Amino acid sequence: MYNASERLTFLKHFFYLASYKYTMEFSSKLLENAVNEMSQLPGIGKRTALRLVLHLLKQPKEQTHSLSRHLLQMRDNINFCENCHNISDTKRCEICANPNRLERIVCVVEDIRDVMAIENTSQYRGHYHVLGGKISPMDGIGPGELTINSLVEKVKSGAIDEIIFALSSTMEGDTTNFYIFKQLEGLNVITTTIARGISVGDELEYADEVTLGRSILNRIPFENSLKNS
Ligand SMILES: [Zn+2]
Repeated sequence: MYNASERLTFLKHFFYLASYKYTMEFSSKLLENAVNEMSQLPGIGKRTALRLVLHLLKQPKEQTHSLSRHLLQMRDNINFCENCHNISDTKRCEICANPNRLERIVCVVEDIRDVMAIENTSQYRGHYHVLGGKISPMDGIGPGELTINSLVEKVKSGAIDEIIFALSSTMEGDTTNFYIFKQLEGLNVITTTIARGISVGDELEYADEVTLGRSILNRIPFENSLKNS
């Protein structure tokens, strides 16, 4: 056991280290502002932000101008496909506009990363429906924040024969699948889910193309996935 004086010394060291870690003295307000903005990005702490900002300062001015310009252009002009809600430069994305795709089969995914992963397999010829996230009470994301209503409406209009659930097999993914499945109950549509060669918790984006391609081809009725869990 430690005595009182040793504990006090430990606490003093702890607070010294903590304050050293979290306060950063800047010699320039401009630099500080840039670092603060950069550190708002996910996975970027203050130290990494400072490293990135100093890197930009070393590069030719044109490079930072070009980076800023492209970010602004993307933010101001980004568009979402009116049919599948995927990010697109046109009103309808290339997939929805392609007459060779099977529009009556719709694969439900979280975001554009999943669309890209599945497209890379070259095994899927249907359309997508991009939810824009997963139901996650912890993060304050309810069904209303996602594009679930427009999917249900599409099914109600009789435009879809099969819905394929392809959300990652996490608690949030399973909850979202189940919520949508319940919304579709009684409607004239087949619901399937991709076969789980992909282990629980894996994100689609990290699955290898062959495994993911196979899991789409070998999809199973959604009800069967409920019985297994
Ligand atoms: Zn689209």
